[in-house]
Amino acid sequence: MDKKTKGQELAESILTDRKSLPEGNPGIMKDADAFCEGYKRFLANKTEREVVEYVLPILAEKGYTEYSRGTKYKPGDKFYKVNRDKTILMCTMGRRPVSEGVRVTVAHTDSPRLDFKPHPLFEDASMAFFKTHYYGGIKKYQWTTIPLSIRGVVYTKDGRKVTIRIGENDDEPAFLITDLLPHLAQNQMKKGASEVVEGEQLNLLIGSLPYDDEKVKEKVKLAIMSILHEKYGITEDDFETAELCAVPAFKPRDMGLDRSLVAAYGQDDSSCAYAEFMAELDTVDPEYGTVTIFADKEETGSDGVTGMRSFFFRDFLEDLAQDEGCEVRDVLRNSVCLSCDVSAGFDPAYPEVMERNNCCFMNCGPCLAKYDGSRGKYSTNDASAEMMNYVITQFRDAGVTWQIGELGKIDLGGGGTIASEISVHSIDTVDIGVPVLSMHAPIEVTAKADVYMLYKAIRAVYDSRKPKDF
Ligand code: MN
Ligand code: MN
Repeated sequence: MDKKTKGQELAESILTDRKSLPEGNPGIMKDADAFCEGYKRFLANKTEREVVEYVLPILAEKGYTEYSRGTKYKPGDKFYKVNRDKTILMCTMGRRPVSEGVRVTVAHTDSPRLDFKPHPLFEDASMAFFKTHYYGGIKKYQWTTIPLSIRGVVYTKDGRKVTIRIGENDDEPAFLITDLLPHLAQNQMKKGASEVVEGEQLNLLIGSLPYDDEKVKEKVKLAIMSILHEKYGITEDDFETAELCAVPAFKPRDMGLDRSLVAAYGQDDSSCAYAEFMAELDTVDPEYGTVTIFADKEETGSDGVTGMRSFFFRDFLEDLAQDEGCEVRDVLRNSVCLSCDVSAGFDPAYPEVMERNNCCFMNCGPCLAKYDGSRGKYSTNDASAEMMNYVITQFRDAGVTWQIGELGKIDLGGGGTIASEISVHSIDTVDIGVPVLSMHAPIEVTAKADVYMLYKAIRAVYDSRKPKDF
């Protein structure tokens, strides 16, 4: 091999050298592949309720118990607390008292979807439909002519809770929103993309057979309601209690001839939630306690009792503080948080929205985002130099590969994350997440190596013995 020139040597020592993960670590794909088998199973849970239901038996198997106030937990003890069936906090007690701080990670398990309206069922032109109200930021035109499944919960008048999950298995029917044929779409095609399909056109086609009775007015509606009544015991009134939604009915699957990518619904933010979950399960006897959070309502602004703006999280830390006889403010000030949410991966089809020196590339590791927001860094948690130094030092020590970037070019849009809802409590917080292609589309794309490396990044922080020194 030729001897390196002085310039080459200098460049190596003082310039940043970016390699993709598989380039820098040839063995990584074996681990990433294995890791993502579990990830694909996790992705089959498509609502926040389903995720909580899915993880509870796993937690029990791994020795987690339900948190009870006043219990003296020992280092290494594992416990969890569920909030209203939708969000969950999972913890491993540290060797250090909680007054010295905990290590928090938070990801959200709600994803953009089509929620049902309170009176969803109607009949028109001898077909029955459910009316929806979209949840989160979607390009509405992407949600037509794809198979959708129905998920959620309804309460009946006689006090039963009915859980619905239909449209996913091969022996079940799926549902769909229609679109206009191109032959008659001359006017539609002239519209801006946000009006091509309007909110009130997102009606789910659910049936077309009439009830066999001349005297009945809306025969298809009655026939559909009678199927629902027979199958679930619900009546039309019961929809008023319901939380039902339609989500894409695609199964999570490998993508690409080399199978390096995952194509699935809900990877914003289940990719981060899964990485967090596995890191939490694998944490044994940590120096500092861990608090691993699945949050709800991130896609609509983190409001409500299950969103991160609710006091549930802080109350929980206050409980932990009281169990130990310390002040919650000390727990908060000494804690750090990785707000785990996806970032936009660079897409060569749309290079114009990215600034190449400060954006994230697929397969280059989880993306740290020092800040997000828009219009001159409005509405953002902007992690301090000290926090960045703290986190990056631990990544470096643990051999984690990361990248750092912004969501896209300045003034093209922007977005917020949960980070601000954590840092408001005086917890130093930084965003980190998996780069995603086609974010918020019915099928999103991630790279397996990135999902796996996010797990390693979280482990680096959970396993660290380094005290917070800022
Ligand atoms: Mn997200
Ligand atoms: Mn999102």
